[in-house]
Amino acid sequence: MHPEFEAVIGLEVHCQLATESKIFCSCRARVPAEQSVGEMAVNLNTCPVCAGHPGTLPVLNQKVVEYAIQAGLATHSKINLKNRFARKNYFYPDLPKGYQISQFELPICENGWLNIETDAGQRRIQIQRIHMEEDAGKNVHMAGFSLVNLNRAGVPLIEIVSGPDMKTSEEAGAYLRALYAVVTYLGICDGNLQEGNFRCDANVSVMPKGSTRFGTRAEIKNVNSFRFVEKAIDYEIARQIEVVRSGGRVIQETRTYDSDKDITISMRSKEEAQDYRYFTEPDLIPLEIDEAWVQKIASNLPELPEQKKTRLISDLGLSPYDAGVLTGTKSLAEFFDRVVQILGGSALAKPAANWVTGEVSRLINEAGIEIHQSKIRPEHIADLVRLVHDQVLSSTGAKQVLALVWTSGDAVQVIVDREGLKQVSDVGALDPVIQKVIENNPKQAAEFRAGKDKLLGFFVGQVMKETGGKANPGLLGELVKKKLLG
Ligand code: ADP
Ligand code: MG
Ligand code: ZN
Repeated sequence: MHPEFEAVIGLEVHCQLATESKIFCSCRARVPAEQSVGEMAVNLNTCPVCAGHPGTLPVLNQKVVEYAIQAGLATHSKINLKNRFARKNYFYPDLPKGYQISQFELPICENGWLNIETDAGQRRIQIQRIHMEEDAGKNVHMAGFSLVNLNRAGVPLIEIVSGPDMKTSEEAGAYLRALYAVVTYLGICDGNLQEGNFRCDANVSVMPKGSTRFGTRAEIKNVNSFRFVEKAIDYEIARQIEVVRSGGRVIQETRTYDSDKDITISMRSKEEAQDYRYFTEPDLIPLEIDEAWVQKIASNLPELPEQKKTRLISDLGLSPYDAGVLTGTKSLAEFFDRVVQILGGSALAKPAANWVTGEVSRLINEAGIEIHQSKIRPEHIADLVRLVHDQVLSSTGAKQVLALVWTSGDAVQVIVDREGLKQVSDVGALDPVIQKVIENNPKQAAEFRAGKDKLLGFFVGQVMKETGGKANPGLLGELVKKKLLG
């Protein structure tokens, strides 16, 4: 970032709630996978209510309220026991009623926060509000005409609005990941990013460094990948600084991110922005929530990412960084818990954490899947950790085994036996190899004997090469030294 400027970032996240039915009718909210492809699937999960027929009335789904309360409690928000729905009026073909039922002045949750961790340390990000609303349908544009699919109309969402508290794309990314972890741990969101279960509008502005008056913001709409949000923000910050530095003014507008070109593009300026003419939804009575119900929900909350992270640090002695990665998704956290359980506790937790945050995370990130979607099971990692600890496998050998687990899912012991990857700790087997290496390198041997200690590494490397990386490195150093000097 330019040294004379600082950026201000606020995020609005739309999170699709994992309820069985829609927010105001009994249609299915989650289309089963076998129905989600092909023409048959279109407008299948609809009824007169979510299709917006005149004369129909919405009936609130209690599960939506429960999930919104869970989100509020998990983000330390105040739960407004009295809250109400509002109409947000606008015209679009995928919105048959001509309005979206949302919340405006009195949302269900307000004034929460979430801690984030970046290289610079920990920071607290404010959450201004969380409100419930219905999703719209989807326009499908064809050559010369458009079709409307209302399967998504009436699917429940919560919108989570942060304070303008973030200063870098890294902080924005950390906030999104932390929030994603919260809603997926709670189980209130399926968390499928590709399907838009968790999507983000990023508000970005810049101002002179040290200023307290925010600059004019641009809003980048609907980005559904963490990486793309970060890239879009970086692009937008640089663009706005350039505008200001060349004497121009940033205009308040809505922009869209083009991930192929890695740029943001203007969609509409504030002058064209709509006036939503919000008013209280007359078809729904104000919502009054029983405090005892909130308390019951609070006492049944599962262990949340932050608590789990604290536990991994204090009970297992892991670093904050490792604990952060391991609790980043529910799937990974459960996987790691299971590995530690199989290993029988904290003694080998550190090497287990290294495997999961290192090689395992690299593999699943490259494949773009979650750990439970891969062939790697907690038993595999526990076996690898144990075999390396017992010096049956070298760390190089263990990595080879993991690569084969990844593709085959076979048991570790089966792979080790089949591929002959067992580490050679047998002195009798290593001795002739060491002898040969020394004989082939008389000059280096003489230099070593004359005091050039560094050459030990050279000999160990040569023996490793001869044994295909299977020699036990700890043992090998000792053996080579003994042979050279003795
Ligand atoms: P709207 O609904 O019209 O987008 P909100 O007041 O709800 O307006 O604000 C949306 C988001 O914009 C919030 O996350 C807020 O923190 C953020 N925000 C507000 N002002 C700025 C600013 N100057 N720069 C960056 N973000 C901002
Ligand atoms: Mg907005
Ligand atoms: Zn319906």
